[in-house]
Amino acid sequence: MEIYFNIQIDCEATQHAVNDPALGERAIRGVGEVLAETGTRGTFVVIPTDMKAHSAIYKELEAQGHEIGLHLHPADQGYQEFLGVYGFEDQVEILREGIAVFFDHMGYPPQCFTPGYASANDYTFPALEAVGLRHGLVSIPTRNLPQCACVWGNSPLEVHYPHRYNRCVTGDVDFVDVPATVDVESRMWGGAHPQDLRIELVDAKNHWYTIHKNVVRQAKAGEALPVKHLKVCTHNTFDYRDPHNFRRETLLGVIQSARRICEDEGCELVPATTADIAAQYREKVPLPSGGVQLALDTRGRSAVSKGS
Ligand SMILES: [Zn+2]
Repeated sequence: MEIYFNIQIDCEATQHAVNDPALGERAIRGVGEVLAETGTRGTFVVIPTDMKAHSAIYKELEAQGHEIGLHLHPADQGYQEFLGVYGFEDQVEILREGIAVFFDHMGYPPQCFTPGYASANDYTFPALEAVGLRHGLVSIPTRNLPQCACVWGNSPLEVHYPHRYNRCVTGDVDFVDVPATVDVESRMWGGAHPQDLRIELVDAKNHWYTIHKNVVRQAKAGEALPVKHLKVCTHNTFDYRDPHNFRRETLLGVIQSARRICEDEGCELVPATTADIAAQYREKVPLPSGGVQLALDTRGRSAVSKGS
């Protein structure tokens, strides 16, 4: 049983709140070293201003087998900060601006996308489809931060095609959402945010439990779950080049734990980019045509009416 293992790096060292491109460069070079040392695969999603600063390094990372995609913080393009406050046309425009900068530097349009703060609304997935984006980390299940226009409720934990009119359910949008790996029971920030595999959130010991819970859950699902995954994430705002940096040590600890836990649970950890995960999903699950039927769970009602 294979579990695809991806490390995502949101690259935004030039955004207004950080504004440290030199740190950004040390971070992406350092993460590149860790990926090479450990034989793992990264997905670097990059805001336009970071792309302008570091496109030569992204080309090197891509040549090493990693994926480069698009990340957006709309405030750095002159909009409000959160993508999820905009309607369809505005989201398309914001996305197209980012895609154009990516294209100018990488020579092809991006396929992978993550919005800053996982901020999205019901217009977001159709907008991603309309501009030709194909996959990415958009949802963080159970993250409920209305102040960031980021409310995900009990959206799917698994890789899925999203619904055209409701971001929290599965549907027929031609975009593969690869959610962040979370422990929905470990709440942070006053209960608003589930503990996820964000390297800078907690130490490797705490991440062990999130990895273990997600490996056991997916292994138990067996064939019913066509694509199993673990998604680690971090930002290029830490000095991953420094061998004694705490985040680097945490990242190494998380990779080691994931390998051991998969082995102990009879699974094989497969290093993957988000593109690899989405390709597996598209191969195994055809895009449903004509949408998806929802059904109310009435098992309780029928149990009572039968008098049992
Ligand atoms: Zn970001």
